[in-house]
This record gives sequence, C-alpha cells and structure tokens, in this order.
Amino acid sequence: MDRPRYRDFNTFLRERFGRRVQKVTLDAGLACPNRDGTLSTAGCVFCNARGSGTGAAARGMSVTEQLATGKAVLAARYKAKKFLAYFQSYTNTYAPLPTLTSLWDQAMADPDVAGLCVGTRPDCVPDEVLDLLAAYRSKGMVWLELGLQSAKDETLAAINRGHSAACFADAVARAKSRGLWVCAHAILGLPGETAEDMAATADFLANLGVEGVKIHLLYAVKGTELGRMVEAGRCRMLSRGEYVERVCDFLERLHPETVVQRLTGDPHPGELLAPPWCLDKRGVLADIKARLAQRDTFQGRLYSGGGSAILGPFSSSSHSPGR
Ligand code: SF4
Repeated sequence: MDRPRYRDFNTFLRERFGRRVQKVTLDAGLACPNRDGTLSTAGCVFCNARGSGTGAAARGMSVTEQLATGKAVLAARYKAKKFLAYFQSYTNTYAPLPTLTSLWDQAMADPDVAGLCVGTRPDCVPDEVLDLLAAYRSKGMVWLELGLQSAKDETLAAINRGHSAACFADAVARAKSRGLWVCAHAILGLPGETAEDMAATADFLANLGVEGVKIHLLYAVKGTELGRMVEAGRCRMLSRGEYVERVCDFLERLHPETVVQRLTGDPHPGELLAPPWCLDKRGVLADIKARLAQRDTFQGRLYSGGGSAILGPFSSSSHSPGR
C-alpha cells in the first residue's frame, strides 16, 4: 500500500483514541459580529444567512438533543461510538462566558463525547474565552477552529472578513500559549488570488505552527454576495484541475505534522450555484491523492522550518483524550 502523502484527521483520531471518532456538527444559536451590525450586516461574501449552520438551534433543539440525533446518524453510517462535539455555526465564542460554559458543559456531559471543536473568528477570542476553553483540555481533546481564509489583507478586505491576518496570528499565539490546538480554515480560489497568494497562505500557517488545517474550495451558494458576483460574471471559480493543483501546492508547504482535517468543501446541493464539480467530493479527493502521487510530492515537502512549534499532537502527554 502507498504511504499516506498527507496527515489526515481520521487516521490521527484513530491513533489517539484507538477507534473511529466522528465529529457531530452542532448549532448553538449564537450570532456573528460580521452579521449583527457590530462589524457589518453583510457578512463574508461567501456566507449565506445560515452561517454554515444546520438551523437546529432555531428549531429549538438543545445541544444535548442535537448530539443525540447526530450520534445516531453517525453510529448508523460509520459504526462510530465516540464523537467530538463540533460547534460549527456562526461564531461560537461570541457570547458571555456563562453561556459558553453551559454549552460546552452540555456537550462534555455526554459520555460518548471525547472532546470539543469550537469554530470561531480570530477577533472573537479574548483571553478569558481562551482560558475557559483551555480548561476543557483536562476533560478531552480540544480544538479551536479559527477562520483565516487568506493571509492576504487585500483579499480579507475584498471578501468582507472584518479582520486582518495579523489579528489571526495574534489569536493563534494566544491560543497556543494556553496549550490549545488551533485548526485554521483556508479557502482556495478567493477573488483575485493567484497561485502564489494561496501558497503564501500555506507558508503563513506553517510559520504559525497551527496543529490543524481545513482547506476549502471557494464555492458560491444562493443568497450570497459571491453568488451575485458569479452570476454577474465578476468572479471566476477555479476549475477542478486548478483546485487539485493548488491543494497539492498548499499541502507541500504545511508543517509535516499539521493534521489535515478537510480537503474540499461541502455545499448543500440545493443551494449551490458554482462550481458544479465540487459536489463530487469523493472524486475530488481521489483526484488530489492521484495528483500528489503523480507529482511524487507530499505534505511538508517544501516546509522550510523555523516558525512556531506544533504543540505535540502526537505526544501522549500533551493532553488527556482517554474518554
Ligand atoms: S464570520 Fe462566519 S458566520 Fe460570520 S459572516 Fe463570516 S462566514 Fe458567516
């Protein structure tokens, strides 16, 4: 069998827990400062009003109920018995500390939950929130998922992110100083970005020593500014071949130990405007693996070193995942 050419999340979780572990996606019903008027009411150009959410909170489902439903689905599909509670929708640190404590306690109260993944913006992680999240490391695996999307400030402004790359770097440093693992989200194919810009984002993340990355492709869904740009011919989506090439470039520059949590996007078929090829998730993943092999390359091949250290995800003393 060929050796793996990147460090994938499922294998990482199996190494840590000795079994399959699945993420259960949760919607805590929190807001986002880039939508509620604090920074903007428009949101990021690619984000629709659901904010990547399931809408479960709006339907009145508690975290406990969402976990029960999600676990049942994933147990049937993958025979999974252990789970990570993934707070995905909107900005999951954008609430008072007692609210966050209540949400995270609800998740960790489930005996099948082995840890927390908390998705948020880098400008919404004050020290007291990071201190609170770091306290859960004694109870299980904890990931802070931070959206960067691009390390180029002009791009961040163009997509209305409302934060800079420096803000992201500061959040990562403060999280890592508390022992928190950071999973950075990046998008390939953002408007106006060149192959060099996308590679520079990988270099930026490698230099910061992030423990995880999620690589998304830019896709346009209905009801977004990006969707309007695409329909008006003001924004071109990457072709499937271009995306595969850029992912390979990106992986080559990452730290070799960074865990790759995602390599494609996951649009709702009914909402997708473009590009249509991204619905073939399995095929795109297969293309990426085949292209890595064809280029005879692998994650970290061009990593130059010298940046911040990875927080030892593979050292058994670095946290207590043993639930
Ligand atoms: S920060 Fe997240 S939830 Fe807020 S507008 Fe951007 S993508 Fe949407």
